[in-house]
Amino acid sequence: MTDTITNVTAPPSNKAAYDHIHEVVAGGVSSNMRARGVVRPLVVESASGCRIRDVEGNELIDVNMGYGPHIFGYADREVTDQIADQFGRGHLTGLPHRLDRAAAGLVAELVPGIEQLRFANSGTEALMSAVRLARATSGRPLLLTFEGHYHGWSETLLRRPAPEGDRPLPGAAGMIPEAAHHTIQVPWNDTAAVERVFAEHGAELGAVICEPVLGNVGVVPPAPGFLELLRLRTRERGAVLIFDEVITGFRVARGGAQERYGVVPDLTVLSKVMGGGFPVAAFGGSREVMEPLTTYEAFHAGVYAGNHAALRAVTATLTKIRSAPDLYGDLEALGAYAEARVREAATAAGRNVLVERVGSVLSMALLDDASAVDRAGHRAVQTACQQRGVYFHPVPDEPWFLSTAHTTQDIDTVAGVLKESLAQAPA
Ligand code: PLP
Repeated sequence: MTDTITNVTAPPSNKAAYDHIHEVVAGGVSSNMRARGVVRPLVVESASGCRIRDVEGNELIDVNMGYGPHIFGYADREVTDQIADQFGRGHLTGLPHRLDRAAAGLVAELVPGIEQLRFANSGTEALMSAVRLARATSGRPLLLTFEGHYHGWSETLLRRPAPEGDRPLPGAAGMIPEAAHHTIQVPWNDTAAVERVFAEHGAELGAVICEPVLGNVGVVPPAPGFLELLRLRTRERGAVLIFDEVITGFRVARGGAQERYGVVPDLTVLSKVMGGGFPVAAFGGSREVMEPLTTYEAFHAGVYAGNHAALRAVTATLTKIRSAPDLYGDLEALGAYAEARVREAATAAGRNVLVERVGSVLSMALLDDASAVDRAGHRAVQTACQQRGVYFHPVPDEPWFLSTAHTTQDIDTVAGVLKESLAQAPA
């Protein structure tokens, strides 16, 4: 049968469709993250609410939700209709639009640390620009980061830990080794390590960057007082504190993690929920910290940065968020319900599972007898769930993201499928 979207003969199964993609897309995906841990490929036909449909016609409840942007579910009409309308009005002119003021104004109204911002196309791009701006502001190149925190794939920020605990290494083949020399990395929530870095390198540190809730090695909230310590030491030593709120922004509270934990950074990076799934990101802070961009001394650009469709996605999403007074209370309650049901499923199946949650972001990882994460076992459970109509990421580092489109009945279905799959997986 000829596919009406692609105009080519549709492959009959997920596997065949995936292999077909591999012929012309390197590795079969346009993001390495999408290939991680895949046992049974899933090729999507469409998505709406909290459900995806694959090319075989199966319908699955999705709790990964495209890595988190869709707080109102897939294909939310209030958001997508406005984006479609903007396409009809011309979405890219390379000139300012009054949507620039409207979208930036909404972000600044909702996020405590932002007075001014710039828009970008992806989290990676906004983070790279934020670090460059921080270095321009502080005049110092040295950066403190935390193990396991993912800040995109740029030369500036993609790192892996050095085996001997020295400066971290470039994160992938082809990266410039010297770029990593300007980074110190310490474990998340390690107060003593942070104090050591400030004692030894305080005068050289230009910026400190973290995900205020670590969301890329499962969910790891900040230890009590940890964000406050980062705020105190950066202020004392004149380093710029950057929160990567790509996941947490408009997700763990209306004003993000900085509102939830009451610690306001100098620079904030946003993406995901801000655009309701449309590719858009932003970085911003006080007028003072944005000064090198006000004067154009620092450089940030992009043909597509802040295009009118992206800005319409922001105004549509944030207007909806602003006008939903119970949104975060409801998501908290749904998250708590899901956490309880996942824990019950593990107990009923007699399996040891690590569950962590902040609001509507939840992580679940199968543990082995030594209480270490059992990645192979987790993949087996994920595959079994997928076959039974529930999708989460095969790698336990990737959290579940709940949305207003998930009902408690959907969560009950997910928990039931998880229980069966856990019980069946080899111990
Ligand atoms: N920062 C965090 C915390 C993320 O989770 C991600 C992506 O998942 C990024 C940055 C990178 O964003 P993007 O994939 O839009 O470049």
